[in-house]
Amino acid sequence: MPEKDEMMKAAVFMGPERMEIKEVPKPKCGEGEIVLAVKACAICGTDGRIYFHGQKNVVPPAILGHEIAGDIEAVGDGVEGFSPGDRVTVVTSIGCGHCRYCQKGLLHMCPDAKHIGYEYPGGFAEYTSVPAEAVRQDAVIKLPEGMPYAEAAMVEPLSCCINGQEYLNIQPGDTVVVMGAGPIGCMHLMLAKAADAGKTIIVDVDEKRLNMAERFEPDRIVDGGDPAVGGVEKVMEETGGLGAEIVIVACGSHQAQMDALRMAAKMGRVSFFAGLPKDKPTITFDSNLVHYREVSVFGAFASYRAQFVKALELIGSGKIDAATVITHHFPLERIVEGILTTKRGEGLKSVIEFTGNHGT
Ligand SMILES: [Zn+2]
Ligand SMILES: [Zn+2]
Repeated sequence: MPEKDEMMKAAVFMGPERMEIKEVPKPKCGEGEIVLAVKACAICGTDGRIYFHGQKNVVPPAILGHEIAGDIEAVGDGVEGFSPGDRVTVVTSIGCGHCRYCQKGLLHMCPDAKHIGYEYPGGFAEYTSVPAEAVRQDAVIKLPEGMPYAEAAMVEPLSCCINGQEYLNIQPGDTVVVMGAGPIGCMHLMLAKAADAGKTIIVDVDEKRLNMAERFEPDRIVDGGDPAVGGVEKVMEETGGLGAEIVIVACGSHQAQMDALRMAAKMGRVSFFAGLPKDKPTITFDSNLVHYREVSVFGAFASYRAQFVKALELIGSGKIDAATVITHHFPLERIVEGILTTKRGEGLKSVIEFTGNHGT
């Protein structure tokens, strides 16, 4: 039995709708590894989906959490450039290191990618270990001085939005429609504004979410569920009948994806940012919209290191006010409440925060 100070508190996912707060062994710092004292770990929509339904690459008992900020607790032999006490965040995807994607730094596309908070234990614990291959791949990134941990935990979700928007090449003055006013949709809205978008329009069918989106000051808030003013008609009206240059679908909705193609302008760029349920992943649409109107559709999934760095810069410089998207803070014991808060649309980002339990 390990000594008391070799134990830590963790939220352990034991299977669908079973999350247990337990004492588990604190990770040891092996050669090439870095152990973090977690200070903040935000709850992702994916964490919620895993909590309710499980996921193939998460085998219980597992510790979720990939939106991590913390202090370096220990540095393994052979690791250079880091010392205990450094404030850091961690890139989620760990690649094989030698495939065509890994060679370009696109570890999130590696066919053998593994992830912190999925295959490897994540940040919903007092401590977490960064595997040696991740350390070698430069996954640990130092935080700018003074950046609060909770805001640093927004770096991962923001980096994913940056990944989506890099394909879209938003030009100053472009009309940008974001479908889905959840935390990710709101982050897209902030990013589009930071890219000098012209008119910004946010669409959702949930009134609570639409009310919360107000704080990000979109030019128009559209209730897509209102049959009198369907989302497409409303966007057409707002754009003089031409449609929007950019449409980002940040909700896993068949209808939203189909509507996005109809509300895009000629030469418009559409991002299918959210996935559809795996048992019903198809939509139908008028293919001629894409052909004659030269509409482009882009996918986006996860992110890579350079986008984490960009997200850190945007948050650090204040161009993106990450605090606005954080509506709830919870201690680890209340993690399920955090998951439910986002799922029910009662809040945007919930952050699990660890205070005073690391002896710091
Ligand atoms: Zn995430
Ligand atoms: Zn690879």
